[in-house]
Amino acid sequence: MRIDLHAHSTASDGTDTPAELVRNAAGAGLDVVALTDHDTVGGYGEALAALPAGLTLVTGAELSCRLDGVGVHMLAYLFDPEEPELARERELVRDDRVPRARTMVGKLQDLGVDVTWEQVARIAGDGSVGRPHIATALVELGVVPTVSDAFTPDWLADGGRAYAEKHELDPFDAVRLVKAAGGVTVLAHPAAVKRGRCVPESAIAALAAAGLDGIEVDHMDHDADTRARLRALAADLGLLTTGSSDYHGSRKTCRLGEYTTDPEIYGEITRRATGAFPVPGAGGRER
Ligand code: AMP
Ligand code: ZN
Ligand code: FE
Ligand code: FE
Repeated sequence: MRIDLHAHSTASDGTDTPAELVRNAAGAGLDVVALTDHDTVGGYGEALAALPAGLTLVTGAELSCRLDGVGVHMLAYLFDPEEPELARERELVRDDRVPRARTMVGKLQDLGVDVTWEQVARIAGDGSVGRPHIATALVELGVVPTVSDAFTPDWLADGGRAYAEKHELDPFDAVRLVKAAGGVTVLAHPAAVKRGRCVPESAIAALAAAGLDGIEVDHMDHDADTRARLRALAADLGLLTTGSSDYHGSRKTCRLGEYTTDPEIYGEITRRATGAFPVPGAGGRER
């Protein structure tokens, strides 16, 4: 079984539509893929309708959180998408992404960049708008060569010249809300230092004590030493460990299934979830 528990679609800042994503997941030989768009479940319907036979969809989201000024991403799986309190929090974060992106566009204009909100809005389409969309605009304008090159202090990195904060959840609230909605939480890329500051191990321990289910260990932004350290930490804290691609289509270099999750751990995640259940593809309309 090949299981990839972290992927983005055009519902947030990926470049595959949800239907393309599930087709590409099947094409990459995956048995299970989780749709984890930033702060939204907006891609579920399309992904479910297009789900190929032989592929199982795990519904989820990646919730934007902040702890003591450090950005934290919380993967949430198999929660009830209708549960009102968590739905409201997703909406608050998503809604605030628009004025925040406009602020970043304004900062770029002040820096002499010829970017407009209309350009960013076109790139984001219906997706939950984020820095990767702005980064794509900067690539289109020839300001930086790749999306990744926009994530520097000169441009869009945390605290960078054109950076603006958005409303984010307290990760302890996120754990509590997801659990209340029947879901399971996994701290995404907890030691991805190249993205900026990361939370200390003491914070991971505190989250574990508050009900966090697991941490993402096998991820492109973790080197071998980091993975070993995280695995040891997870064993100490009784946390599950996952692996996943964090696929963003052509907006990032990682491929679907580049990192995968152990089937036993996947089984444990599905056993803990009560808000929603993995959906096996019956061969949707695109078959
Ligand atoms: P936002 O949610 O709008 O603050 O944007 C954060 C997203 O930007 C993350 O989820 C990543 O997909 C992307 N990102 C962060 N750091 C980098 C980086 N160094 N290179 C490429 N993409 C990045
Ligand atoms: Zn993303
Ligand atoms: Fe993330
Ligand atoms: Fe992600």
